[in-house]
Amino acid sequence: MIRTLLLFALAMGLAGFPAEKKDPRPNIVLIFMDDLGYGDLSCYGALNYRTPHLDQLAMEGMRFTNFLAAQAVCSASRVALLTGCYPNRVGFWGAYGPNAQVGIADSEVTLAELLQQEGYATGIFGKWHLGDQRQFLPLQHGFQEYLGLPYSNDMWPVDYGGLPATDWRKSNYPALPLLEGNEVRERIETLADQAKLTTLYTERAVDFIDRHAKEPFLLYVPHSMPHVPIAVSERFRGKSGYGLWGDLMMEIDWSVGEIMQALQRNKLAENTLVIFTSDNGPWLNFGNHAGTTGGLREGKGTSYEGGHRVPCIMRWPGHIPAGVVTNALASTIDVFPTVASLCAAELPTNRIDGIDLSRLIQGDLEAQPRRYFAYYYRRNSLEAVRRDHWKLVFPHRGRTYQGFLPGNDGYPGPAPEDHTEPLALFDLRRDPGETYDVQLLYSEIVRELQEYAEQVRADLGDDLTGQSGTGRREIGRVDR
Ligand code: MG
Repeated sequence: MIRTLLLFALAMGLAGFPAEKKDPRPNIVLIFMDDLGYGDLSCYGALNYRTPHLDQLAMEGMRFTNFLAAQAVCSASRVALLTGCYPNRVGFWGAYGPNAQVGIADSEVTLAELLQQEGYATGIFGKWHLGDQRQFLPLQHGFQEYLGLPYSNDMWPVDYGGLPATDWRKSNYPALPLLEGNEVRERIETLADQAKLTTLYTERAVDFIDRHAKEPFLLYVPHSMPHVPIAVSERFRGKSGYGLWGDLMMEIDWSVGEIMQALQRNKLAENTLVIFTSDNGPWLNFGNHAGTTGGLREGKGTSYEGGHRVPCIMRWPGHIPAGVVTNALASTIDVFPTVASLCAAELPTNRIDGIDLSRLIQGDLEAQPRRYFAYYYRRNSLEAVRRDHWKLVFPHRGRTYQGFLPGNDGYPGPAPEDHTEPLALFDLRRDPGETYDVQLLYSEIVRELQEYAEQVRADLGDDLTGQSGTGRREIGRVDR
């Protein structure tokens, strides 16, 4: 009798708890924030509110302190994440508005296409921003499921306070289309509609995990928040004690917790690589509706560290050591080859710029896979280069937030685009805020970085010196 019971229990156990996946390749969960700054998580020094789920993610994984967005603006940064290329290599710059006639070219291999070829299920729930014409939408570029906005949540006919558009913003945009696959599911017309987005994306991400628990998957969750106009669901409104921004950070943190819980519930937390990062630094002239750089110089839309350096956390238990901080230089463009390597996927034949970080993240903390980085902005301006802790800024005109009182409650303060930035060398080891120029002390470093910049210009071009570059590829265009 006892034996029968034991056998019965064993059989039930087997049926109730299917054997762990044998597949050594991890699932990939990419959580990508919009305009979240370097100092916006409590494990990166945020004051006044906490982000416990993200802090836990950092405790269970690796936290980067020198992780650079590929470019300090939306579309460019996003194409870099999905192709492993500097945005200008694949013809991207800036942020594309509604009905742009350009988008990601068919000849580029996205991370979703790469992993789909390897048998991964692929889903995206959130902001796309790599072209809103049908041929450029996610389903045509490797994703099997899509729900989200095709571009930024401020590209709509009302301004940030929900009032009639101010004349410096486009006022002739249509209400935001919330797409399901290739079709418009509904229009996002009010801030109350925007307040639903974070929870909606999260619920769909959780549902995707539940439905694909038995096969390898890539889940990409590019939140529309905390890009202005910021909005939070009723559940979190007033809960942080730190205004709308704090409430929103609570909801974002909750979202990460929901995704982690879904992985645990499906027994996938061990064989899933979770990556959390942001597309660029904070839009500082929005004041209390913007994040913080944690003291870094300038913000979104600049080549100073406040524009580029973003939080990045990677978690994969048993592979990535827990609770480790790495100060090694890395960038969004490195995600593509790193994931390809961990998933044993072959890289595309098109040249990419990312570097495989897999040794570093799997515990070789002495590894310095990336030593150089090129900071591009505008159409194709090489505004700065970096080697290790040395950063050389080239003379250019750019945005500045410094010295201007930011706006408040959804309204922007001034942020002139034509501020003159002189040649300057910064030693980020002792001057992370890029406050004083040391070129006169280290002329040999200036020369070395100038030489590196020349190599970059020959390849990727530079509007500041009038070079076109031989290694750039065409952006996708709508056939006319
Ligand atoms: Mg952004």
